[in-house]
Amino acid sequence: MNLAEELIGRIRSVIGADEAFVPLHVPEFHGRERELLLDCIDTGWVSSVGSYVDAFEAEVARISGCAHGVVVANGTAALQVALLVAGVEPGDEVLMPALTFVATANAASHLGAVPHFVDSAFDTLGLCPLRLRAHLETVAELRDGQVFNRQTGRRIAAVVPMHVFGCPVDMDGLDAVLRDWPMVVVEDAAESLGSRYKGRPCGSLGAVAAVSFNGNKIVTTGGGGAIVTNDEALAKRAKHLTTTAKLPHKWAFLHDEVGYNYRMPNLNAALGVAQLEQLDTRIAQKARLFSAYAQAFRGLNGAALFRAPEGSVSNNWLVTLVLDPALAPERDTLLEMMNGAGIMTRPVWTLMHRLPMYRDHPRADLSQAEDLEARVLNIPSSAYLGARGGVAV
Ligand SMILES: *Cc1c(COP(=O)(O)O)cnc(C)c1O
Repeated sequence: MNLAEELIGRIRSVIGADEAFVPLHVPEFHGRERELLLDCIDTGWVSSVGSYVDAFEAEVARISGCAHGVVVANGTAALQVALLVAGVEPGDEVLMPALTFVATANAASHLGAVPHFVDSAFDTLGLCPLRLRAHLETVAELRDGQVFNRQTGRRIAAVVPMHVFGCPVDMDGLDAVLRDWPMVVVEDAAESLGSRYKGRPCGSLGAVAAVSFNGNKIVTTGGGGAIVTNDEALAKRAKHLTTTAKLPHKWAFLHDEVGYNYRMPNLNAALGVAQLEQLDTRIAQKARLFSAYAQAFRGLNGAALFRAPEGSVSNNWLVTLVLDPALAPERDTLLEMMNGAGIMTRPVWTLMHRLPMYRDHPRADLSQAEDLEARVLNIPSSAYLGARGGVAV
């Protein structure tokens, strides 16, 4: 296949020809990670309280444009608790794109809520406000200022925009829909730490947001997540719930509700503090890698580099190619050839409504998401690829 050979050549011109296998995205440790981890071990502060937990919470909040941060064991737990403190209750429906990582839907399900899948936009790859409005006009009604699904009778409590591969969702478009259909916004900002929508950081665009620090994300704590918000009451409740709902007391074990042990250990937070010191550099390296790909793909036929729309700044977490519609049937051959040539290439996630546990869940017409599912690929995106010499910029 011609396109595969073209792509392999052009990608190799950016990432170098020498390495036999180039992964999609690797964690990188170029800062004080060792020093801070050793400090935890030397002082004995390795577990669920410690100064790195506090420092990491403050720094994640600052980067996300929020006053408060609560760090937890992983991004899925962060999203579950974000939904909970935002007021989502068991039996409620939660609107979210079908084109997302499974954790978005799982987090709502863990709460006993019901993921309700909506369509995606070609210009952001995220939730499509126009399609959302059309869907709500078909299935929803307002009762006492709350949104209900007329078909299932359930309340639709929240909407979860997910900033795909770092590209911010069209929040102005979403806000316009929410003026007619009031629902709380809980951002799945797992992939978008450092991204900005019209100057505002992702994570500060709704009532509360969840971030992930899994090993494949732009910065990592090994495993970890954070809840960020500007609402002090929500932050306090999130901290309480994720730390076993323990009441402060010198010696007694008093807990006032069924809490979670979702705490992030100080060891992981130490790694996080060191990683965040490198976030600006990493984002700059990724921007450089993106430009190099953009230059290398000039005049390419059959596929285009996905670019965040005007007004949005992506952290460029994963570089994305969109195949021309006519080439969708060739996707798997292309994946086979590129991975075979040592260029790790991945399709986008299988849409949520195709997975067995979400097959019967409420959903909108998903034709744009289905179209994207067949044509979206990710190519090697690690920051080091943009950092080293020899990269064509
Ligand atoms: C990574 C990710 C999560 C969850 O993060 P974990 O830390 O792996 O639990 C949630 N949503 C999206 C979109 C993600 O990419």
